[in-house]
Amino acid sequence: MRDILPRERAIWRVAEKAAAEVARSFGYEEMVTPVIEHADLIERVGEDTDAVAKELYRFDDRGGRNLALRPEATAGVVRAYFEGGLSQGPQPSRLYLIGPMFRYDRPQKGRYRQFFQFNVEAIGVGSAALDAEVIELAAGWLHGVGLGELRMELNSIGDAKCRPAYLERLQAYYRPFKSQLHGDCQLRLESNPLRLLDCKVAQCQPFKTGAPRITDHLCEECSAAWAEVQVLVDAAGIEYQLNPHLVRGLDYYTRTVFEFYRASATGQQDALASGGRYDGLAEAEGWPPTPGVGFAGGLDRVTELMAASGEEVIAPPPADVVVLADGDLDVAAADVARICRTVRSVAVDYDRKSLRAKMRSANKLGARWVVLIGAKDAERRIAQLRVMASGEQVEVAWVDLPAQLA
Ligand code: AMP
Repeated sequence: MRDILPRERAIWRVAEKAAAEVARSFGYEEMVTPVIEHADLIERVGEDTDAVAKELYRFDDRGGRNLALRPEATAGVVRAYFEGGLSQGPQPSRLYLIGPMFRYDRPQKGRYRQFFQFNVEAIGVGSAALDAEVIELAAGWLHGVGLGELRMELNSIGDAKCRPAYLERLQAYYRPFKSQLHGDCQLRLESNPLRLLDCKVAQCQPFKTGAPRITDHLCEECSAAWAEVQVLVDAAGIEYQLNPHLVRGLDYYTRTVFEFYRASATGQQDALASGGRYDGLAEAEGWPPTPGVGFAGGLDRVTELMAASGEEVIAPPPADVVVLADGDLDVAAADVARICRTVRSVAVDYDRKSLRAKMRSANKLGARWVVLIGAKDAERRIAQLRVMASGEQVEVAWVDLPAQLA
């Protein structure tokens, strides 16, 4: 876990603002759910993912409840959709949430145990148009923060109707190679064959190429949805690659899966955002069957790239104006405060350092203006106003400062 210090925080604010704006432009409303959920809720829907099997922060509270820090947002958002009565309102519910997630992941560069996601969900309608909508929203956000050069990968993993027969085909294909797969994949072959396709271990790679593709074995409904998603994503002008090995390991995921990467990203780099449809999730949580689709964007990764991109996304100075009372503070603090109250975005240097030293730190702050007030100036109710960019300095009456600094 880490601290986000003010300079970095300013970049996060740009990313969050872009998220809020693009979400709003698609009619999505913000919500907040607790970072703590009943462990049972998370485990019920996540039994086979790493996030649950190995990475869940789980604890008992003083009342003996078995709780977990949320590893992702969707399970909690779907819970809130039912508990809060959103399921009774107009459908779909278009929701977004920005907040911390927790996974006891192996610490490594760019991966944290507390990290932040921009999470978007459209719940209550199964239309493939919503898959395309959340894809467009994700792309809009990444473009909005200056990460325009993207590669999107897209696949469909079918549904409860067509996937079982496909999995049998996949198993039949892999069985003859079983002894050549690495340990986990030998187990997956029986327990979760779809995950064979996204194995990253070198010795398993050669077998993927010849594996049957699920998109060749979709039922009629999934096939129609798959075609529609592609037409709509094309129409949105978003480029993508079909990746038959892009999968999710849980039964409640259905149809569309997608991931966004930087176009220049190679091999093992993390996705910037990933998502898909989860028509079986509500039922897995014990609610009536309800379709949903969404994605999660990684704010840590995205802000890191924004900072590295060198573009001026960046950090406005903490204050536009710095007020310096000359050395000995003969100028009454009340006078300084009175001036500050009339001006917005202002910082005061109360130090007793020399004026020269104070100018240096004002410069470092990046302020546009510095207001210097000497004792004599104070008597006359005037100040010296310095424009930092040009170095120009003029005498200004206190009453005229707000207008001058507007
Ligand atoms: P996931 O929920 O695993 O599909 O992740 C969605 C996005 O969240 C990823 O594309 C990453 O950008 C980000 N993410 C996931 N896990 C971490 C982590 N441990 N640290 C930082 N970002 C993460």
